[in-house]
Amino acid sequence: MSLPLAGKRALITGSSHGVGLATAHLFAAQGADVVLHGNANMADADHAVQAIGPKALGAVQADLSRPGAGRELYDAALHLASGRLDIVVNNAGIHWASPLDSSDAEWERNWAVTLQVNLMAVADICRAAIPEMAGNGGGAIVNIASRAGYRGEDRNHMAYGASKGALLSLTKTIARQWGSEGILAYALAPGWIDTRMGPQADEDRRTAEAEIPIGRMASAGEIAAMAAFLASGACASATGSCIDINGASYVR
Ligand code: NAD
Repeated sequence: MSLPLAGKRALITGSSHGVGLATAHLFAAQGADVVLHGNANMADADHAVQAIGPKALGAVQADLSRPGAGRELYDAALHLASGRLDIVVNNAGIHWASPLDSSDAEWERNWAVTLQVNLMAVADICRAAIPEMAGNGGGAIVNIASRAGYRGEDRNHMAYGASKGALLSLTKTIARQWGSEGILAYALAPGWIDTRMGPQADEDRRTAEAEIPIGRMASAGEIAAMAAFLASGACASATGSCIDINGASYVR
């Protein structure tokens, strides 16, 4: 299916690997101009820019664990996109453990960094994007949340689940409050995705797959496909919704 992404300019965060990389490739293949983003792995982000070719406008380096980096990333991406971004896919995220028995210092650090990368940086990017997009007639924001945002997480990843739950609320507020100014906002709630963040060891994969009725994890390409469909504006009336992508492992 061809999607109306031609001529649109998109920032995709965390696009050196996994879901973000697949999303950048798919958006470009569907005609969008894409700005990529990397952190410690800039060589991979730069390689992706080369691989995508002329539809890639460049890659921005930003460590989203640093307060303020979200706005800086958005501003740098806007510059690469010659002053107009129609789409932002907030995909960068971390899945750090925060067990109850960690030291106080570890507990506080892991909660703070998880909330900073998974939530606050997204809020900062949206804060920058909303007025810009509204001034240009509108735009679409797709936030990659998680099944954990609804269902809760395992006992070692309480901070991760909390960050993704908050991201769902943030997305709904944007959709409700700025829809009248042309801003569309969606969240995706994947279960396990077959990326390096997902279970990789054979036994861990088997355990994860055993709880998924269709018997496999989602692919990065499936998440990218849903992001492309929603970001294209093909179903603008779905704004404010969150799409589950979990093989029916959690049905709400
Ligand atoms: P991944 O680890 O391959 O990708 C995560 C991306 O986030 C990377 O590109 C990384 O560079 C970026 N990132 C991490 N920390 C950063 C920081 N401090 N500053 C800037 N960028 C940073 O994993 P993925 O599966 O592609 O994850 C993509 C999104 O999907 C994440 O938001 C994740 O929470 C979500 N998700 C993943 C799964 C899964 O099973 N893999 C399940 C549900 C939701």
